[in-house]
Amino acid sequence: MDVLHRDDLPFPASLPAFQRLFPDDAACAAYLEKARWGNGFVCPHCHEARDPFRFANRPAVLRCRKCRRDTGLTVGTVMERTHTPLSVWFWAAYLVSSQTDGMSATQFQRQLGLSRYETAFQILHKLRSGMVRPDQDRIGGIPDEHVEVDETYVGGRTRGKGRGVHDKVLVVSAVEVRQREPGSWLDKRKGGRYAGRVRLAIAQDRSEASLCGFVEEVVAPDAQIITDDWTGYNSLIKRGFKHLAVAERGDHRVAEEYLPIVHLVFSNLKTWLNGTHHGVSHQHLQAYLNEFTFRFNRRFYPFNAFRSLLGIAGDTSAPTYDELYSGEWAHPRCCGCG
Ligand SMILES: [Zn+2]
Repeated sequence: MDVLHRDDLPFPASLPAFQRLFPDDAACAAYLEKARWGNGFVCPHCHEARDPFRFANRPAVLRCRKCRRDTGLTVGTVMERTHTPLSVWFWAAYLVSSQTDGMSATQFQRQLGLSRYETAFQILHKLRSGMVRPDQDRIGGIPDEHVEVDETYVGGRTRGKGRGVHDKVLVVSAVEVRQREPGSWLDKRKGGRYAGRVRLAIAQDRSEASLCGFVEEVVAPDAQIITDDWTGYNSLIKRGFKHLAVAERGDHRVAEEYLPIVHLVFSNLKTWLNGTHHGVSHQHLQAYLNEFTFRFNRRFYPFNAFRSLLGIAGDTSAPTYDELYSGEWAHPRCCGCG
């Protein structure tokens, strides 16, 4: 059963509640154990269903009473093979999931009281890698809803380069557009429209292969799609979508009328990249797009993110610090569709 629907895995609604629920490593280990074996421990080696041995100095290890073999509670999670205590991971996941804007590694290091910047960086990046998997299904395809698609340039760092040299990266986005119930106080803004789920990816260029290829990867076939009239979207109908191409021609009123939601997403994304992270290098941009997508898609349910990070992060193969910097570990492309 999905951990999100388990009543026996409570989630703290406040900071004091968090501290009461997870006072130490043993409490965190008990939570992990409950998440994995809702009906009590079953030894994965010999299938013995009996309460295991527990060790005060190794809270993340359970030992079977029958075959005496050990089972690690963090195996297959982002916490596997790290020396960072469980309580630090839990605190980190809580910070990452409950703060709408996320944090920089420096803020994170301070909050967690870590002596090494590298440890903070590594924890943050591993949690981010857990933000990739949950968004694999295609968006759109809901009757009476449409999907806005557009692309924009996101500014990279220009430090150390000549004047006029920019590391702008092309980012493409698809956003579900939903309609508020008529009569709600929010329905006056943007014609009552608001964003459903979002998908974001780095695009190689503005060609048809890039842009329509992205749409095919992330949007359900048959969906109604609105774009501007850029030729890169020309083959959407041929690819099976219902397509409305709007002639923008630099007129902001047209954009506001037909593509307001995807523009809002881009504006939020740029504010977030520049504000929280002070700009992001090209190398890590896809990771930040994944984080933005994860946060955006859970913005109405901030606490689900915490359990997602611990619960589903299990199947993610996380990078080590060396891999991150050597560039050997490639962040999964495109917000979880690949
Ligand atoms: Zn056993």
